Amino acid sequence: MEKKIEMKTPLVEMDGDEMTRVIWAKVKEILIEPHVDLNTVYYDLGLKNREAAGDRVTTEAAEAIRKYGVGVKCATITPNAERVKEYDLTTMWKSPNGTIRAILDGTVFRSPIIVRGIVPFIPTWTKPITVARHAYGDIYKNTEIDVPEGGKVALAYTSEDGVRTETPIHAFDGTAGVVQGIHNTDASIRSFARSCMNFALDTRQDLWFATKDTISKTYDRRFRDIFETIYDEEYKDRFADAGTEFFYTLIDDAVARVIRSNGGFIWACKNYDGDVMSDMVATAYGSLAMMTSVLVSPEGHCEYEAAHGTVQRHYYKYLKGEPTSTNAVATIYAWAGALMKRGEKDGLARLSGFGAKMEVAAVKTIEDGIMTGDLFDLSNLERKRRVDTETFLLEVGQRLAAIV
Ligand code: NAP
Ligand code: MG
Repeated sequence: MEKKIEMKTPLVEMDGDEMTRVIWAKVKEILIEPHVDLNTVYYDLGLKNREAAGDRVTTEAAEAIRKYGVGVKCATITPNAERVKEYDLTTMWKSPNGTIRAILDGTVFRSPIIVRGIVPFIPTWTKPITVARHAYGDIYKNTEIDVPEGGKVALAYTSEDGVRTETPIHAFDGTAGVVQGIHNTDASIRSFARSCMNFALDTRQDLWFATKDTISKTYDRRFRDIFETIYDEEYKDRFADAGTEFFYTLIDDAVARVIRSNGGFIWACKNYDGDVMSDMVATAYGSLAMMTSVLVSPEGHCEYEAAHGTVQRHYYKYLKGEPTSTNAVATIYAWAGALMKRGEKDGLARLSGFGAKMEVAAVKTIEDGIMTGDLFDLSNLERKRRVDTETFLLEVGQRLAAIV
C-alpha cells in the first residue's frame, strides 16, 4: 500500500455532541484515517467535557485556531433549561460557536452543497449562493424599553470629555409604545468587510452587499461607506486580477436579483438580513443537512463545520439501538474544507487534493442513487436507495478509495 498522505501543521479538531459526535468518529475512521496520517490537536467540546473543564476548553480551542490557522468543528449543544436538567449542568454554558466567533472576530459563510437529483425550489439556482452574516450588534445587542403613554424618548450621547447631546426620537402623545437602541462599530464592520472580500477572492466569486441606506442615512450608510472604502483602497486590483466583482445595491433590489440569479456569488448581509436570508436560502436549496459553514477571521483563520445541529431526535433513536439515516455530507464537507485549507496553507498539494476528492466521492455516492432518508425524500433520481449513515459512509469510502 502506498504511504499515507502526510500533514505538516496540525488541524484544530473540536469534537461535539449527540448524533454528529457519532458521525464525527465514523468520518475519521472510514474516510480519512485509511488515507491520511492525520495530525490534529484535539479539543472535546462535547457538553459533558465542557461541564467538566468549563468554557476554558472552548476558549483554548479558539486560541489554537489563531495559532494554527485552520480548525474543524463538530456540532455542539447550546444548553437551554432542558439540557441543564438532562446533563445535570452546574450552569447554562454559552454557545461554543458564539465564544469562538467572538475570539476569532470572524464572519460565518454558509453555502449549499449541490447534487444532481435534488432540484432547488428555485430551479434556476444552479450554483451555490453563499450567505455571509455579520454576526455583531444591531438588534442582537439591543436595549429595548416599554414607553408609557405621554412620555418622550431621545437618544443621549456623552462624549469622552463629558459633553452631552440629545436627539429626540418620539413623543408618545396619546399612546404608549416601544423603543429600541442599537449600535454597531466601525471596527466590527471593517472586519466583516475584509472577511467577505478575502473569502470572495479565495473562492473567486463575486461579492454582493446590500443595506437600506436610502432610509437609514447614517446607520446603514456607514456600512456602505466602509465596504466601498475598503474595497477601493485594499481590494479593487486584487478583485480585478481574480476576475471577480464587488457589487453594492439596496437590500430590496438585492432580494429581487438573488431570486432571478443562477447563484455562484457571496451575499454579505447585515446581521438581521443574514439571520433571515440564510434560512430562506438553505430551505430553497432543499436541506439544512446539505449546508456547510465556515468561519473566516479578518486575518484569514478558518473554522469549518456543518451548518446543522447535533440532530438530537436521531440520536435518541440511535441510543435505543434503532438504525438512523442521518446525513453525514455536511460533516464530510467540513473535514474536506479543513484539509483542503490546511494543504493550501502548508503547500501540501496531496492533502488539498484529498480534501477535494472527499467532496467528489460524497457527491458521486448521492448521484449514484445512494443516500440518507432526508435526501431520499427530495431526490428525483429514478434509481435511488435509502441507506443508514454507516452504509452511506462505507459507500463514500469505496468511491474515495478508487480516486485517491
Ligand atoms: P438540528 O440538529 O439541525 O436538527 C433539526 C432537524 O433537522 C432534525 O431533527 C432533522 O429532521 C433535520 N436534520 C438536521 N441535520 C440533519 C442531518 N445531518 N441529517 C438528517 N436530518 C437532519 O437542530 P435542533 O434539533 O434544533 O438542535 C439540536 C441541537 O443542536 C441543539 O442542542 C442545538 O443547541 C444544537 N445546534 C448546534 C449547532 C452548532 O453547533 N453549529 C447549530 C444548530 C443547533 P428530522 O428530525 O425531521 O429528521
Ligand atoms: Mg435564522
